[in-house]
Amino acid sequence: MSAHQYAMVMDLNKCLGCQTCTMACKKQWTDHDGMEYMYWNNVETRPGKGYPRNWDAIGGGFDRNGHLRPSPLPTIEDYGKAWEYDYEDRLFKGTKQSVQPNDRKLDWGPNWDEDQGQLNGADNFYFYLPRICNHCTHPACVEACTRKAIYKREEDGIVLIDQERCRGYRHCIQACPYKKIYFNEVLGKSQKCIFCYPRLEKGKVNACAAQCPGRLRFVGLLDDPESPVHKLVLKYKVALGLLPDRGTGPNVYYVPPFNPPRGANYGKSILDDPRIPLGYLKYLFGPEVENVLRRLEGELAKAQAGQQSDILQLLIGRDADVRYRIVDAKTMEPFENTPTHLVQLGMIRR
Ligand code: SF4
Ligand code: SF4
Ligand code: SF4
Repeated sequence: MSAHQYAMVMDLNKCLGCQTCTMACKKQWTDHDGMEYMYWNNVETRPGKGYPRNWDAIGGGFDRNGHLRPSPLPTIEDYGKAWEYDYEDRLFKGTKQSVQPNDRKLDWGPNWDEDQGQLNGADNFYFYLPRICNHCTHPACVEACTRKAIYKREEDGIVLIDQERCRGYRHCIQACPYKKIYFNEVLGKSQKCIFCYPRLEKGKVNACAAQCPGRLRFVGLLDDPESPVHKLVLKYKVALGLLPDRGTGPNVYYVPPFNPPRGANYGKSILDDPRIPLGYLKYLFGPEVENVLRRLEGELAKAQAGQQSDILQLLIGRDADVRYRIVDAKTMEPFENTPTHLVQLGMIRR
C-alpha cells in the first residue's frame, strides 16, 4: 500500500476515438527498437476484441482466494504485428488493387473490429475505451515477478519495472488481467506505462492526457480532496475501475457512457430498453455502474431544468487547472522545479 496514489479518470462520453493519446505516448516513450507493436496507451472499440485480442477473457489477476489466476501469454499476432505498406507496388507498379502490407495478408490488428464493423440493424452500439496501465493498488504483476523487478512507488503508487533487474521472464504479462505489460524482444525486457512520472516531476501532466482534444482525462492524487480524481471517484462517485472482479484495485477510473433508450426501425421508434445492454456495462465496470448511471442521469435532469450541476461542470473540464492537479506526493505541494510558464498558463497552482 502506498502513502498516496496518482490516478486518472476518463469520461467515456467524450472520447472521439481519435488516437491522439496513443500517438502522444508512442512518440514520447515507445518510439524505439523492439517497441514497434507496443501501445502503452491504446483506444479500443467496445464491443470488440480489444488489444491484445481477447485480453479480458484470457486470464490474470487474482481469484477469490487471492491466488494468481493462470493466463497464457498473448502472441505477437494477438497484438497485431506492425507492418509496412507496399507503397512501391501501389504507387509505381499498380499491380495490386489496394495498399496491402508487403510481407503478408493482413487479418488482425489494433482496432480491427472497428475497421471491419458492420451495421447490425437496431442492435448496433459502440463506444471507445482508452486504456493504460491501471497502476493498481494490488498489482498482480508485482506479485508474479520472481525477480522483484516490479515495484509500486511508496510515495505516489506509480507501478514501475526496474529495467536493470528485469530478466524478461514475462510472468508479469501473464499475471496482469489488463495485459498492459509488453515484451521488448530486442532488449529481452518487459516494459509498460510509467504514468509519465518524469513529466509529473516537472509539474507537467501525462502526455496522453495533455494531448487529448476531448479533454476527457482528469489527473491527480486520489487522496487529495482538491484533486478532480478525488472528487469524481470518491466524493461524487461517478467513476469506476475496469473489471473490478479481477481483484487488483485499478486506479484508472471511467465515467460510464450515458445509456439512453434504444432506437428501433432505423431510428423511427424508441424502445424501453437501453441502447447499450446493461449486462455489458456491468461486465466492464461491475454492478455499481447502474447506480452511477442513475446519478449521472439525475445530474443531467438537473442541468436540463436550469439548475447548477457541480458534477457536470467538473466533467466539462474546460480548463487544464480543473482537469489536472499535479503535486509532489511527498509534500503535497507543486514540484519545486515546476516551469513558471505552466503556472502562468494556469496548468499548475502554486
Ligand atoms: Fe500491473 Fe497490470 Fe495493474 Fe498495471 S494494470 S499495475 S501492469 S496488474
Ligand atoms: Fe503513456 Fe504516459 Fe499515458 Fe502512461 S501516462 S500511457 S506512459 S502517455
Ligand atoms: Fe479519446 Fe482523447 Fe484519446 Fe482522442 S485523445 S482517443 S478523445 S482519449
